[in-house]
Amino acid sequence: MSDPVKKNLVGLSRDELAAELATLGVAPFRARQLWHWIYHRGVSDFTLMTTLAKDFRAQLAEHYVIARPLESRAQLSNDGTRKWLLKFADGQEAECVHIPEEDRGTLCVSSQVGCTLTCKFCHTGTQRLVRNLESAEIVGQVMLARDALGEWPSPPDDRQISNIVLMGMGEPLYNYDNVAKAVKIIMDGEGLSISKRRITLSTAGFVPMIERCGAELGVNLAISLHAVTDELRDVIVPINKKYPIAELLAACRAYPGLSNARRITFEYVMLKGVNDSPAEARALVKLLEGIPAKVNLIPFNAWPGAPFECSSDEAITVFGDIVNAAGYASPIRTPRGRDILAACGQLKSDSIRLKKSERDRAALLAE
Ligand code: SAH
Repeated sequence: MSDPVKKNLVGLSRDELAAELATLGVAPFRARQLWHWIYHRGVSDFTLMTTLAKDFRAQLAEHYVIARPLESRAQLSNDGTRKWLLKFADGQEAECVHIPEEDRGTLCVSSQVGCTLTCKFCHTGTQRLVRNLESAEIVGQVMLARDALGEWPSPPDDRQISNIVLMGMGEPLYNYDNVAKAVKIIMDGEGLSISKRRITLSTAGFVPMIERCGAELGVNLAISLHAVTDELRDVIVPINKKYPIAELLAACRAYPGLSNARRITFEYVMLKGVNDSPAEARALVKLLEGIPAKVNLIPFNAWPGAPFECSSDEAITVFGDIVNAAGYASPIRTPRGRDILAACGQLKSDSIRLKKSERDRAALLAE
């Protein structure tokens, strides 16, 4: 007979952890010490938790584990971007990507295996299997990345993982409960300690959960807009048929905590001849009127069999200039990790838009 499976302590809220320990007759303050070892020190071997009594450590080891997802593959791009393919206990896989930049490092985290949204330009939408990730599997991505980058104990500043974006596989607002639980653990000041101001949740527009996300988590919001008419958005972002642009933007206007200092990011993937005309740039500006916003222009990341092409540099520049002239920052997201096909390389980059000469140079270097 095999050993009974031990319960993973990762992903439990503080209260749940205390309740779990109470079943062993352990006092609540011990839960706080254990929390510190798990999320501040990053220790997963109970025997190393030297501030805990020996018999308590033995008791923990008998009943529990502190487990990360398994790493089924790790790849390092020549631009420093790192991609992990993670394998969960049931054999399902998802991606997690680290994008280092000069002044920050962003970890792009997945919320589901696969995705049900079927946005026409997104490769994840072609995967058949879909399930929600558990809170442990979401928090575990951050812990695994910290392991790999040698970032324990949680550093106070100068971190390689300074920002988190929920922009990997899946629709985070379709898995709200697990995502919220994970985000609260990630934000916890006595643990992983990444401020809500440095966490961005990206949604294709599941309107009923947007308000709650802002009120309960207070994280930055990114909206995958990608089109300025319902007619087109119905086709390329099909969730629009249920929650059309006007409803989505009304939810944005009402997003708790919104101000000029805390703007909503609108993501706009540039698809040649589909959504990239100057008229559409002007329509976008009209739509966003009154919303503290910035616009991320994302060069379409093509995949084999994709029904679109990326807009020309010229078209992206013209589009960006129109949005910019209307007073919205409109950085063009620099493609990263292309050589390792980071599907989740949807980095939220506020990087300054490259001048044409710089872009030409970058293109040359990429060849
Ligand atoms: N479901 C969420 C989060 C995951 S997608 C959402 O829709 O926001 C993260 C971002 O990557 C979205 O803006 C999505 O539209 C964009 N994206 C997906 N596939 C892409 C591709 N092939 N090229 C460029 N951006 C893409």
